[in-house]
Amino acid sequence: MRVSRLLTETLREVPHDSEGGNQELLLRAGFIRQLTSGIYSFLPLGNRVIQKISQIVREEMNRAGGQEVIMPILQPKDIWEKRPANGGSTRAEGYGPVLFSLQDRKGRDMVLGPTHEEVVTLLGMEFMHSYRDLPQLIYQIQVKERDEPRPRSGLLRTREFIMKDLYSFDADQEGLGISYRKMAEAYNNVFTRCGLHFIVIHADSGAIGGKASQEFIALTEAGEDDALICNTCGYAANIEKAEFVRSEPMPEPETALEEVYTPNCKAIIELAAFLPIPTAKIMKTVCYVAGDRFVLAVVRGDLEINEVKLTHALHRAGVDATHLHLATPEELEQARIVTGYTSPLDKDEQVLIAADPSLKVGKNFVAGANKQDYHVKNVNYPRDFRVDLWEDIASAYEGATCTQCGGRLHMVHGSEVGHIFKLGTKYSELFGATYLDAEGVSHPLLMGCYGIGITRLMAIVVEQRHDEKGIIWPFSIAPYHVALVGLDLDKEESRRITEQLYTDLTAVNVEVLYDDRMETAGVKFNDADLIGLPLRVVVSKRSLKNGGIELKLRSERESRIVPLGGTAQRIQEEVLKGLTQGPGGHTVSSR
Ligand SMILES: [Zn+2]
Repeated sequence: MRVSRLLTETLREVPHDSEGGNQELLLRAGFIRQLTSGIYSFLPLGNRVIQKISQIVREEMNRAGGQEVIMPILQPKDIWEKRPANGGSTRAEGYGPVLFSLQDRKGRDMVLGPTHEEVVTLLGMEFMHSYRDLPQLIYQIQVKERDEPRPRSGLLRTREFIMKDLYSFDADQEGLGISYRKMAEAYNNVFTRCGLHFIVIHADSGAIGGKASQEFIALTEAGEDDALICNTCGYAANIEKAEFVRSEPMPEPETALEEVYTPNCKAIIELAAFLPIPTAKIMKTVCYVAGDRFVLAVVRGDLEINEVKLTHALHRAGVDATHLHLATPEELEQARIVTGYTSPLDKDEQVLIAADPSLKVGKNFVAGANKQDYHVKNVNYPRDFRVDLWEDIASAYEGATCTQCGGRLHMVHGSEVGHIFKLGTKYSELFGATYLDAEGVSHPLLMGCYGIGITRLMAIVVEQRHDEKGIIWPFSIAPYHVALVGLDLDKEESRRITEQLYTDLTAVNVEVLYDDRMETAGVKFNDADLIGLPLRVVVSKRSLKNGGIELKLRSERESRIVPLGGTAQRIQEEVLKGLTQGPGGHTVSSR
């Protein structure tokens, strides 16, 4: 492809509506244009990346036994309005305003599909009557529509995006387990081939037939997901779930309670500085409201309360914590709680006390005296207060101890790039999708769903692989492999050699973007770096004087001169090497 003919334009200046990160780079390098909030067009360069990612995904899904279909974006709304037998909410209610809704000319309610569980269940049940028809893996690479309230971060959160969604159908848990493991392997292959650094987070309820899921998190500075990983044993978990060992202080005997005057010490750090004591000697108490109950959450002062963990702990204890919130000043007054000076001391049964195990491994804590400007020293469990719920309600942190191996946990940031999930019988029960076993007994189909955001993956690769000059594509998904930069094209020799090289490379199926414009060397080099093709080839008066043409990998600083003659073959070899070697220089297993 000749740059002079390519439908695109690079932007030298940062656009005024730039969101930074992938959005700025893809916009400036001419891969995308925004039509309106969260809705993008993909220019030829962007489309080529999408096609390459899609092809990798397709190969891996097919290898795992997947069959590709195309399901409708436009769907009747009634399939979204089935109410589960337990009376829970419908999917339309669950999605709420995120679901794009419209009416057709006959007044029938329709939606634009944000996902395809409903359609695929209806489709699948036409063909899966017997255990002999199973398993089945059905997938599509398709546009999805979601009316996100705040589209942001370029292609990371858009209202229209391209997704690969695969759905598995099995007869029993064992079969579902096999489908699920196949997908986990396929996902590892996809992300490795796309040059991503990622971690896998297992979220397993542990129960037989539980809703196992795995999240694939690509590590990025700007990522919105926080996770903790152990470099020693490989343990990885979201901050909402990560477990850690509560450090054990030096043993000491329990001593008598003692009230102390602590003016203006509402915050833990103020109190620690005033007394002075380490924050780990203080009880941190925060008052929440869950349904009609007051909840005192108590952790050691050096830890943070994790509201997600707290919510789950309350749910497990049968407390409705759907709308858990910090107590308002009015509610605090109603519960006669003195802000900054409260604690589990002297609390009646009306107040639910949820405590973190960190309070079991220490002694002689300082806790609020439940009156203005006073704390109590040497507070000990169970001598001085009661606890209704001992649960892990504190956030793990950088450097915390791993519960699996005793190693150190490290905090990482990332973006979810894929998710695999055991659905079980949720949708088959909703639609009556059943099969007959060998004895002729009817059972609901067991399903799993497995998603990869294709356009999101493209954005995450850019987030991970760029420098101050532009994008650094891996060979596997680069829009073209080679940036052929022709300089001194007004000179006959330069022009002839460059044009010949372009023809020769095209003839051996090397994908070349040939900058044939009459621009300065500076403009051409800047554009080549911004677009980020993995191999740059320069033909110029200077390179010819130095004995040939100049080759430089986008990921490296140094260039080298290769002599003329067999040049196209040399470059072809370089490209093949780049395609077969992983982005980190590791060889991708033969396929
Ligand atoms: Zn570990």
